[in-house]
Amino acid sequence: MALLVQKYGGTSIADAERIRHVAGRIVHDRAAGNDIAVVVSAMGSTTDELIELARSIAAAPDPRELDLLLSTGELVSCTLMAMAVRELGADAVSMTGAQAGIRTDTAHGRASIVALDPKRVRRELDRGRIVIIAGFQGTTEDSDVTTLGRGGSDTTAVALAAALGAERCEVYTDVSGIYTADPRVVPDARQLSEIGYEEMLELASYGAKMHPRAIELAAWYHVPVLVAGSAEEAGSTEERPGTLIHDLETPTGGEMASTGEMEARDRVSGVTYERGVARITIRAVPDRPGIVASVFEPLTWGNVSVDTIVQNASADRLTDVSFTVAKADAGAALDISRRVASEIGAAECVSDTDLGAVTIVGTGMQNAPGYASRMFRALADAGINIEMITTSQIRITCIVAEAQLDEAVRVLHAAFELDKP
Ligand code: ASP
Ligand code: MG
Repeated sequence: MALLVQKYGGTSIADAERIRHVAGRIVHDRAAGNDIAVVVSAMGSTTDELIELARSIAAAPDPRELDLLLSTGELVSCTLMAMAVRELGADAVSMTGAQAGIRTDTAHGRASIVALDPKRVRRELDRGRIVIIAGFQGTTEDSDVTTLGRGGSDTTAVALAAALGAERCEVYTDVSGIYTADPRVVPDARQLSEIGYEEMLELASYGAKMHPRAIELAAWYHVPVLVAGSAEEAGSTEERPGTLIHDLETPTGGEMASTGEMEARDRVSGVTYERGVARITIRAVPDRPGIVASVFEPLTWGNVSVDTIVQNASADRLTDVSFTVAKADAGAALDISRRVASEIGAAECVSDTDLGAVTIVGTGMQNAPGYASRMFRALADAGINIEMITTSQIRITCIVAEAQLDEAVRVLHAAFELDKP
């Protein structure tokens, strides 16, 4: 029937019992007539433990050695999964990233896939086998093992689905799909049945769990991705609810969608948040060409990644520049900014480390006005001060006090009626 690529996250295969459970689901889907390639993460918190172990031996482990070490986590899970599938009477074969034909660049710890030649995978599938592939890894031209960055197994799965021309990529995890907001913060958050790539990308980059690179890849190659829970018993794939991430078609004049669907396209899809945001402000920066570059270049060199940047309109040729970084980077960012400030003759640097970001996402925003004012009004009515604002075509983000972040998420979820289907 169909060729499916399935990915199982670390929590879903954290122990032998869960590996057996997942093996049962895989064998069930194979018996239904599908060709199946499976990508697995490392069991439970294996990757964290390996990193800790390495750091207990070397403060800054050699990147090549670290990658080879971390790749073993996924080797453990793919081999055990193949054994579990075989125990159930089906034929399975496990493969490393290299065996699966995943070629990467040489950027250890954050390698990019440069080519994927799945001929061995395809040959095994053609022989009727279930292929179980170690996620998160590949090899360089020189046969050095690389890893794709934390959470990289999602990327492996989507890349394989694209290379194999799979019908879809199914990402199974410990949550049952993508929600309108984090259910731990908003009790009446609803699971979405579908979402577009662009919206999912904004959600993924701002909190909801799925590797953003995987979504980008899926969007580029038009691979539909189903995100669903792994806990349920094996049933037919059609019965699994989950959230489908795919190309959402825009209704055209000729074939109008039903009113319900059209309205759905007009609304906010989800509210997402990020804790631990810090803001650095450099005051009274001389306003002349090249100054902003001289502020941000040293941050790049210092490996500090900057999110939101705001530069005020200048008064008397002086302007304030504010930007946000992760709280963990705040100390380094402040040190660098102070040095730069004195070099360029700015007045002072101040930081605020107790902030968070709340974001509304929805493709409908690009055509309809009023989203921003509705967001600001809702926050104002709840007594929440907005510290900074940024927007993209399909997202509005407000930086607020971290202490009010959960309340901000709840207020916006209600204001945009996300609890209603
Ligand atoms: N095991 C790797 C990690 O923990 C990759 C993954 O889970 O996707 O980051
Ligand atoms: Mg993971």
